[in-house]
Amino acid sequence: MPVVAQFALGALALLGTYFVLAPLIFPRMRAAGVGDALEMEDILSRRAEVYGSIKDLEFERARGRLGDQEFEELRDDYIQEASRLLSKEDAFRSEKVQKQIEAEVAKRRENGRPKGASAAKVGGTSKCGSCGATVLDRFRFCPECGEKMESV
Ligand SMILES: [Zn+2]
Repeated sequence: MPVVAQFALGALALLGTYFVLAPLIFPRMRAAGVGDALEMEDILSRRAEVYGSIKDLEFERARGRLGDQEFEELRDDYIQEASRLLSKEDAFRSEKVQKQIEAEVAKRRENGRPKGASAAKVGGTSKCGSCGATVLDRFRFCPECGEKMESV
């Protein structure tokens, strides 16, 4: 086999291996939640930055490098930014929780259908030998006439 052909085959094999292994190696990149996680991380790091800046301001003022008015103005800006980030974080969290709840409810509904069907099958009925009423198999006596059910 010519060297070029061998190389081409090798490259093809590598490519195939890549497509098989890539989802296993980078599962997080395929996860739907990766965007959410990054956004949350962004919010948290910016909040930490803002809090750090407020601490710096306090430090500067304590050192006498910052006037009271200047300090208060800058601090108010930072506090405003911090509370903005906080409410964004809250909205983000509750939105996420909401999505989780919706997903959970949908999942339960999906699971509930076959379960309900099989439950109906298990809880069969029979006719009361005395009055002919339809009685669930799990009842030992007919609820209509009190006759003892034969199936039990
Ligand atoms: Zn009966």
